[in-house]
Amino acid sequence: MSTFSSRHVTLLVGASLVLVAGCGSSSDAKDDGNATAPAASSKVTVVASTNVYGDIARQIGGDKVTVASIISDPDQDPHSYEASTRNQLALSKAKLVIENGGGYDDFIDRMLKSSKSSAEVVNAVDVSGKTAPEGGELNEHVWYDFPTTAKIADRIAAALGKAAPVDAPAFTENAKAFKAKLQPLEAKEAEIKKAHGGEGIAITEPVPLYLTGASGLVNKTPEEFSEAVEEGDDVSPKVLHDTLALFTGKKVKALVYNEQTSGPETEKVKAAAEKAGIAVVPVTETLPEGKDYVGWMTSNVDALAHALDK
Ligand SMILES: [Zn+2]
Repeated sequence: MSTFSSRHVTLLVGASLVLVAGCGSSSDAKDDGNATAPAASSKVTVVASTNVYGDIARQIGGDKVTVASIISDPDQDPHSYEASTRNQLALSKAKLVIENGGGYDDFIDRMLKSSKSSAEVVNAVDVSGKTAPEGGELNEHVWYDFPTTAKIADRIAAALGKAAPVDAPAFTENAKAFKAKLQPLEAKEAEIKKAHGGEGIAITEPVPLYLTGASGLVNKTPEEFSEAVEEGDDVSPKVLHDTLALFTGKKVKALVYNEQTSGPETEKVKAAAEKAGIAVVPVTETLPEGKDYVGWMTSNVDALAHALDK
């Protein structure tokens, strides 16, 4: 079991529909009496499922957007999040909604359906073009894939430009500047690949796999282990044993540890890595406080390189 599943907030669909309908009619009435919108409300309203996409939208929208991110609490596991009526209200007013997709944040789709939203929707997994490998599961953590992040930046710029055509050139420029900052990250991955390509790593959950894959590292973790952790399911004794053996047998150079979906089994794995003297690289699902996307990912790639160079 994930330690976070007891923290669910249940979405009361009936109540939220009433709220949204009431809100819609009152703002319509206000618009009738004031045809030219005040400057404050001319900003494009954006709702993102997590603060990762919220931050990217802010980088591209600058002061022309107001962004609300539904999940930004590092103690919350986005995989098991349920939205609230407050989220529903924000989403019903948004001009742009950014979701991850791929089953990661289905609460967004449920809210879009029940709010009759006419917002532009950017779905990161759709933008990525990534699909499940044969016989495997899609790794939906596409924001750890820098070429995908670049594509998402372009899509966000296009969607914002549609909502505010007069600012479209600024959004395009900002996306260009943002994408330029992703290039050093890809260069760092290439450096790791050159020095450590083919070396084994272990994970607790698939969150870093696009980054480690682009860095030429081989994930040796039994898929049953990382999938069970991601889903909040129990890990069988055999699978746990096989995972722990990666460290006692020194089959891996580092453990990339998702701090946001931890539980008793992942803590056992972390303890085994530490006992065997294998470096532990912490990663998260959402943006840590005080960092932007590029700063966060720079820390992640640098920590990985540092662990492998040890
Ligand atoms: Zn995850």
